[in-house]
Amino acid sequence: MEKIKMTTPLVEMDGDEMTRILWKMIKEELLLPYIDLKTEYYDLGLEHRNETDDQVTIDSAEATKKYGVAVKCATITPNAARMTEYNLKEMWKSPNGTIRAILDGTVFRKPIIVKGIEPCVKNWQKPITLARHAYGDVYKNTEIKVPGAGKAELVFTAADGTEIRETIHTFTGPGILQGIHNTDQSIASFAKSCFNYALDTKQDLWFATKDTISKKYDHNFKDIFQEIFDAEYKEKFEAAGIEYFYTLIDDAVARVMKAKGGFIWACKNYDGDVMSDMVSSAFGSLAMMTSVLVSPDGVYEYEAAHGTVQRHYYKHLKGEETSTNSVATIYAWTGALRKRGELDGNRDLTDFADRLEKATVQTIEAGKMTKDLALITSRKEVTVLNSEDFIKAIRETFDSLA
Ligand code: NAP
Ligand code: MG
Repeated sequence: MEKIKMTTPLVEMDGDEMTRILWKMIKEELLLPYIDLKTEYYDLGLEHRNETDDQVTIDSAEATKKYGVAVKCATITPNAARMTEYNLKEMWKSPNGTIRAILDGTVFRKPIIVKGIEPCVKNWQKPITLARHAYGDVYKNTEIKVPGAGKAELVFTAADGTEIRETIHTFTGPGILQGIHNTDQSIASFAKSCFNYALDTKQDLWFATKDTISKKYDHNFKDIFQEIFDAEYKEKFEAAGIEYFYTLIDDAVARVMKAKGGFIWACKNYDGDVMSDMVSSAFGSLAMMTSVLVSPDGVYEYEAAHGTVQRHYYKHLKGEETSTNSVATIYAWTGALRKRGELDGNRDLTDFADRLEKATVQTIEAGKMTKDLALITSRKEVTVLNSEDFIKAIRETFDSLA
């Protein structure tokens, strides 16, 4: 069989530990035999980040801007223990943080649904994609522990010296104070990324804040979303047959629990932090959660939502067998290949991505899975496979689908 040709390279960001091992297996078993794979390779493994003073991370983000689509392996975010383990020159920043800052993107997390791994919420038949605004609010706050009686004020001094001053509270005893902020630019980028991703995936977009209580702060989020929607996206949404829906956060939570799924839920920073963990744990497994970073101007970076699965890697290093789930990493590749195919009008590539996802799902639904899924499946008969055999089983299913 002739291999599928590619016209534009994918930006390939290699990573660390167990996911680096899976990365290689996925390429060798599931991609290279079928595709004349064109990638621009960046090694984001911690050793190479350290050698290049983390320049490689910046270069990979710039390349993503240039080509439009990247696929990333999970990477170590260094902490004190990693400093000694890898003999690091510096405690390098999280690569995801660096890439997100350069692309100004929003992360969308989406569960992969298979029969036999049922969500805890029984009416969730389709995935719920969660988008979290990743800037500001309580994550960039200033706090004061008020020692005793006194007046707290909110003061803004403009560049020209003029002041806006509001009384927050007149304390009669000890208490607490918190100052938070956001910027119109960051909110607008978030809104555009959400609208673009909704159009891209043909799903409704839900957004919620507490604007009835926070009449300026949260209301500003609501207004910016609505202005951008009316000016740039309304007609496109109508043409695509999808909806933008705004409601209050408590109403959104109640509706999500009763919904069938199949939509994107955009959240402010704190709401997204809380709700993404709730949604992903309710859907079953971190190993079945994909993630895509979408920039406001439509650049995409695909990855798995989980980390480098360190514990399994140490077993692997000791020569022990591992049963690490490669599904989310496979979907990072299929997501990126499909997007590349769409942008280049390469039907063979989009078909390949569809077929590989189908093969992955069918393999699990036939009872062949890794240990993490075997522990949570409702299926009675299960074959637990090791990391490599699971990927080989997917290849077998893939070949049978031809
Ligand atoms: P992790 O890699 O997500 O793994 C935590 C645990 O979840 C694993 O020990 C394993 O449980 C289970 N798990 C996660 N993914 C799995 C998979 N694919 N198959 C089977 N089980 C899976 O998180 P971590 O151990 O806290 O972090 C390890 C490293 O990853 C850290 O250095 C962190 O900085 C990095 N990290 C990177 C990213 C990223 O690049 N996007 C995200 C998060 C963390 P059992 O051990 O019980 O089997
Ligand atoms: Mg959290």
